[in-house]
Amino acid sequence: MRAIQYRTIGREPELVDIPTPEPGPGQVLLQVTAAGVCHSDAFLMGLPREQYTFGLPLTLGHEGAGRVAAVGAGVDDGLLGVNALVYGPWGCGQCWHCAQGMENYCSRAADLGIVPPGLGAPGAIAEYMIVDSPRHLVPIGELDPVTTVPLTDAGLTPYHAITRSLGKLRAGSSAVVIGAGGLGHVAIQLLRHLSPARVIALDVSEDKLELARSVGAHEVLRSDAGAAEGVRRFTGPAGAALVLDFVGMQPTLDLSMAVAGVGSDVAIVGLGDGQAAAQVGFFRGAYETNVAVPYWGARHELIELVDLARQGVLDIAVERFDLDDGVEAYRRLLAGTLRGRAVIVP
Ligand code: NAD
Ligand code: ZN
Ligand code: ZN
Repeated sequence: MRAIQYRTIGREPELVDIPTPEPGPGQVLLQVTAAGVCHSDAFLMGLPREQYTFGLPLTLGHEGAGRVAAVGAGVDDGLLGVNALVYGPWGCGQCWHCAQGMENYCSRAADLGIVPPGLGAPGAIAEYMIVDSPRHLVPIGELDPVTTVPLTDAGLTPYHAITRSLGKLRAGSSAVVIGAGGLGHVAIQLLRHLSPARVIALDVSEDKLELARSVGAHEVLRSDAGAAEGVRRFTGPAGAALVLDFVGMQPTLDLSMAVAGVGSDVAIVGLGDGQAAAQVGFFRGAYETNVAVPYWGARHELIELVDLARQGVLDIAVERFDLDDGVEAYRRLLAGTLRGRAVIVP
């Protein structure tokens, strides 16, 4: 089968031909119908050899959708033919976090060597993929996998980051979204749907600001040296109740702390360069600001997102690429010219 793999540190990913996998006991084989391209893929491919821990060759893709093509021993064959999304942050299924569906925070995954598809295990940017357990499938019925697959990360990660702060988004409050890319443009829609907050979006390109406005941002601003002052003009002295930083570089972390209001939440979602840090402490920001680094989301949250998609409240912008053209999707991601999410279709 064809797949896109990261094979050599520092080189771009490659389209390759590899054996089609077979499901082992308890596993499911999906015929992939759509796979999303995330900036985290670019982050891991930018790591120097001494920090790279994902194994090589690595079939990329941690946003996957597919049709169940075969099941391993012990798996109900009633699943055959089912269209599903793949819940990507696989955990053990047994620990306290997993028992609540928060497999993204599984306390045993590292010890057990459990890794997500595309981030250690073979990923979704291929004709077929193995899902380690039917528990990690969320059926989507007749929904279009191409526009639905970004829910698995570009939707799930902001959904988790927003719902944990919903109590702070009262009428008259402001939410700031930094970076209106794959995740950010979904975050804006979720904020609009789930809260009465005024949404202020920032990005570095006019195209992204136009996208931000078209999906519901009340205000859009260039993310430059004057950005904090610009945001403060909209929020007034109260500042923002929630700041979502989908970039995570030093200038955006500084911006986040500068616009966060008293008792606000700052969620650092973007991985940045892996070096930046938010400054907390006296004289470093508003009192009682909570700074969090959320990672992905819970299983039940992905089910909730699919329900939202069924209700038609989300309008996910996708740029579609054939698998043969998938490497180009990564070039466009790095160039910053994608509108919304790149989705690769085998
Ligand atoms: P993306 O490339 O689609 O979007 C990033 C956006 O940020 C782009 O629109 C870009 O123009 C904008 N941007 C760049 N520099 C900026 C700046 N200084 N100020 C404002 N905007 C700026 O990326 P994505 O796939 O949406 O991922 C966003 C980030 O979130 C990445 O760092 C990714 O690795 C990370 N991520 C984290 C999690 C998690 O669980 N925490 C999950 C998925 C992605
Ligand atoms: Zn991701
Ligand atoms: Zn667990």
